[in-house]
Amino acid sequence: MTAKLIDGKAFAATVREKVASHVTRLKEDHGITPGLAVVLVGEDPASQVYVRSKGKQTTEAGMNSYEHKMDADTTEADLLAVIDALNTDPAVHGILVQLPLPGHLNEDLIINSIAPEKDVDGFHISNVGLLGTGQKSMVPCTPLGCLMMLRDHHGSLSGMNAVVIGRSNIVGKPMAQLLLGDSCTVTIAHSRTKDLPGVVKQADIVVAAVGRPEMVPGDWIKEGATVIDVGINRIERDGKNKLVGDVDFESAAKVAGAITPVPGGVGPMTIACLLANTVTACCRANGLAEPEGLTA
Ligand code: NDP
Repeated sequence: MTAKLIDGKAFAATVREKVASHVTRLKEDHGITPGLAVVLVGEDPASQVYVRSKGKQTTEAGMNSYEHKMDADTTEADLLAVIDALNTDPAVHGILVQLPLPGHLNEDLIINSIAPEKDVDGFHISNVGLLGTGQKSMVPCTPLGCLMMLRDHHGSLSGMNAVVIGRSNIVGKPMAQLLLGDSCTVTIAHSRTKDLPGVVKQADIVVAAVGRPEMVPGDWIKEGATVIDVGINRIERDGKNKLVGDVDFESAAKVAGAITPVPGGVGPMTIACLLANTVTACCRANGLAEPEGLTA
C-alpha cells in the first residue's frame, strides 16, 4: 500500500482563505476588524521567526496585528501590565505570549493572566478545563489543525481507535481530548508505555508528538491507518541539515492509508489555526455566529 499524502500546506491555505473571507464579512457587515496581539519577551531567534510569520499571516488575512517586543530582562510585573492592557483593549480579540519565556518568568502565571476568551493558544487553565469537560473553549492550535485534517480525510472519526504518542499539555493531552470529543477510542502513550509497537499497531489513527526523529517505523503501523506526524526534528544526513518528523516517513508511507509529511504537514496548520481561533474569539466577543469548520 502507498499512503495518500495529507497535504497540510494546501489545507492550511484553504483554512487561511476561509479566515480571510470571514474577516471580510466581519468588516463589511459589522465594521469589525479582528485583532491579534503577540507578545515576545527576549530575542530567541526561533521565536522571532515565528512571531514575524504570525504577524505577516495575520495581516494577509485582513486582520490587525499588534506586536509587543519586550527586553529579555522584563519583570513579571511589567509583562503582567502589558497583558492586562491587552485584556481590556476592545481592538484586541486574541492574545498570544510567545513561549518559551525567559527562565525568571513564571509561564503558568503569565498564561493564566490572559483573559480566557482572548487566549487563542488555548493554554489558559480555564480553556484546558472547558475542553476537558466538552464545553466550548479556545482549542490549542496544533491539535486543532490535526483534528481538522483528520475530519477532512475521514468525515466521521466515531468509533476509530486513536493512539496519541506524547502527553504534553500543548499537543498530546488536548489532541487526545479532541479525539475523544469526536468519539474515538483513545490511548495516550508516553515514555513509560509498555510495548509501544503493540499499542501503535492497534491504531486506526496515530498521532505522533514526541520530538524524537523518525522514532515510529512502518512496521509499527497497522495497514491502512492514518498517520499524523506532529514532530519537528532537525537532523544531519548526508552532510545536510534536514527536517524530519517523529515517524519514519519512507517505511510508514508503504503501510499507512494516509500520512502527513514533515515538512508540509501539521506545521503549516498551526498558524492557520491561530488565525482561525482569532476570528472565532472575535465573533464570540461580538455575539456573532462563529465561522463554520474553523472550530473543534
Ligand atoms: P514534549 O517534549 O513536551 O513531549 C514529548 C512527549 O513525548 C512526552 O509526553 C514524552 O513522554 C513522550 N516521549 C518521549 N520519548 C518517548 C518515547 N521513547 N516513547 C514514547 N513517548 C515518548 O513535546 P511537545 O509535545 O511539545 O512536542 C512534540 C513534538 O512536536 C516536537 O518535535 C515538537 O517540535 C513538535 N511540535 C510541532 C508543532 C507544529 O506546529 N507542528 C507544534 C508543537 C510541537 P513523558 O511525558 O513520559 O516524558
